[in-house]
Amino acid sequence: MSKEPILRVAINAPLSRLFDYLPASSAPTPAPPPGCRVLVPFGRQRQIGMVLAHATQSELPLSKLRRVLSTLDDAAILREPDRWLIHFTSDYYHHPIGEVVAAALPALLRQGKPLNPVVQRVAITGEGAAQSLSALARKAPRQAELLEFLGGHANDGVRFDLLDDAMPGWRRVRKTMLDKSWLRLFESPSEPDFEPQIGDATDGPTLNVDQSKALDVVRGQPGFHVSLLDGVTGSGKTEVYLHLMKDVLDAGRQVLVLVPEIGLTPQFVSRLKERLGIEPALLHSSLPDSIRLSAWRSARNGSASLVLGTRSAVFAPLKNPGLIVVDEEHDSSFKQQEGLRYSARDLAVAKAKHLGVPIVLGSATPSIESLQHCTEGMYQHVSLPSRAGSAVPPLMRLVDLNQQPAYDGISLPLLKAIEENLRAGGQVLIFLNRRGFAPTLICSSCGHIAECRRCDARMTVHAGDPKLLCHHCGASRPIEQQCPECSGPFRPLGQGTERLEESLAHQFPDRRITRVDSDSTRLKDTMNKALALATQGDADILVGTQMLSKGHHFPKLTLVGVINADQGLFGTDFRSSERLAQSLIQVAGRSGREQRQGEVIIQTAFPKHPFWGELFRGGYERVARSALQERLAASWPPFSRLALIRAAAHKRSDTHRFLEAARGKAQAVGLSNVSILGPVSAPMERRAGRYHAQLLLQSTDRQALHRLLQALRPELETDKTARRVRWSVDVDPIELF
Ligand code: ADP
Ligand code: ZN
Ligand code: ZN
Repeated sequence: MSKEPILRVAINAPLSRLFDYLPASSAPTPAPPPGCRVLVPFGRQRQIGMVLAHATQSELPLSKLRRVLSTLDDAAILREPDRWLIHFTSDYYHHPIGEVVAAALPALLRQGKPLNPVVQRVAITGEGAAQSLSALARKAPRQAELLEFLGGHANDGVRFDLLDDAMPGWRRVRKTMLDKSWLRLFESPSEPDFEPQIGDATDGPTLNVDQSKALDVVRGQPGFHVSLLDGVTGSGKTEVYLHLMKDVLDAGRQVLVLVPEIGLTPQFVSRLKERLGIEPALLHSSLPDSIRLSAWRSARNGSASLVLGTRSAVFAPLKNPGLIVVDEEHDSSFKQQEGLRYSARDLAVAKAKHLGVPIVLGSATPSIESLQHCTEGMYQHVSLPSRAGSAVPPLMRLVDLNQQPAYDGISLPLLKAIEENLRAGGQVLIFLNRRGFAPTLICSSCGHIAECRRCDARMTVHAGDPKLLCHHCGASRPIEQQCPECSGPFRPLGQGTERLEESLAHQFPDRRITRVDSDSTRLKDTMNKALALATQGDADILVGTQMLSKGHHFPKLTLVGVINADQGLFGTDFRSSERLAQSLIQVAGRSGREQRQGEVIIQTAFPKHPFWGELFRGGYERVARSALQERLAASWPPFSRLALIRAAAHKRSDTHRFLEAARGKAQAVGLSNVSILGPVSAPMERRAGRYHAQLLLQSTDRQALHRLLQALRPELETDKTARRVRWSVDVDPIELF
């Protein structure tokens, strides 16, 4: 036993364990408590670690333990619930705990910067202000200049770095002027905490019967419980959230709201501001690091009462939590698909449970998993079956592409409907989930297709910035004119959003067309501008991908056209039909949200496919029910649990050798109720020059799967075949490749 506490430290390294250290020196300074960052020697380097526990014993002899070099925090920056979530995440996803800590912290804290960064400032003193500038200007012009400049900034003074820009020579006169007491130096926080209050909260519409019922159901239970707010698009889910949030804020507690993508929700943010009268602290990846740190800190110290963020905001520390809301809970953006592969929605539920606060998951198209939790009684199903206010659901119809001539991918009935809706003063959205000009470049004489040299994939033709681009690895090359096989002429085949925009411009020359996809919105703010145009009705036809389908409210929109939904009908993944129904219903939900009834036209070459019957007769509910039955029959999730071990390497044999070894080790653990499937090559085997393969573990017993991974992970970490591959464990994968 050690007289000093042994510090158990998480370090950002791909190893599933904590590392033991002794406190900085045996002097009487207290050892850093759990939740503090420390600088430690690690191998031959230094690393920033996070103390997660104190212990009295170590597996290593005491004489072998090294001492931490210094402690970076005066007090724990992560409190017990924050550390609990880190442990839970690491255990559940079988991911190295130091990497979980790194994912949970804002970048600046990960790099060892202080929680409360300060900047140095200089201000003029009373004595300085009393100097005669004109007299001084003759003897010491630079000093006079500085006094004059600072005189304009009263007590706040000026930051050193800004002064360096404004008056590059000021540091040379600083000492003289300090000696004369004309200047004073001080520090201030570089990014102040939040001051959320911005105005008065405004009232929304009076809730309808369904909304009031939903609100009562959620309000009726104190403490942790999960409500699935299942409401058709436009049913007023957001209104229900707003009432719940107001309760919690009025009680002086904090609300955490998770959304799939912040870029897509400027309307949501302004609605929160307007209705609640406070500024939300935002946490998402496109913010500068310093702003993110300030939002994180404000969440932690409670000055931010409303915290709104994407995926990683689930790790935000909350001083006084009262409610968690996950909007569009079905959205796959909540699942991180690389590094630490976690579901922010599922972690949010775990967090709410640990904190003892209610959580609301909202969607018009809830995930099959969440619906099943309702059936099992773990979540409460709260439904809003109809649109709020006076809006009625849109009329949906199919157009059979085998029967109808199409012009550049747009069928005659769709062209007519566009014409009619525009003439009646409506706005039209044409949805195609494929950016670029055309998905294929094909040789007209031999049929050869331009492929990516690094992936098993076709190159997409882009016209705006003309090139061939691989959407899987980002490789690009100039558009080829001639087939390398037969020298025949190449031509683009199929439709992308760019081509669609071009055809529409040709068909409707007098109309204003706005395209929204990740190419058109790459520049900062172009997304917001495009959305503003769309919202004000200053665009007649909107053409876009997924980005246009989520959450937006375009008051004038009366027609949605879906160019091609057929890819989703034949997806290989067991989630394909769920996904297709979600994306169609989300995009359809943009239509007819106000007075005029909306219309939705879906083009398909397979009108007899049973999916359509289900969707048209029974809506999402019916699709979800039959998806559940299929999954039950095939024992897919949620009726079993999955984990995928993926491997990638420049040589195919390396991935298979590693996964064969993994299979052997998994079998050796000897759990008969876990099936081990594979290894097999991934459906798109070669991506970005690497071969991909995978091993699937499946069990109806979650605990058994968990125990297997627990035994397997440390073994894989030290396996020598692992050195030649990149590998990862994905628990609850949402894509099986
Ligand atoms: P959702 O979040 O389910 O898509 P919203 O809360 O955004 O729905 O509501 C859709 C539209 O209906 C919004 O314009 C909203 O202001 C309006 N609305 C919501 N609830 C009511 C209500 N009770 N009475 C009238 N209008 C409502
Ligand atoms: Zn050819
Ligand atoms: Zn590629």
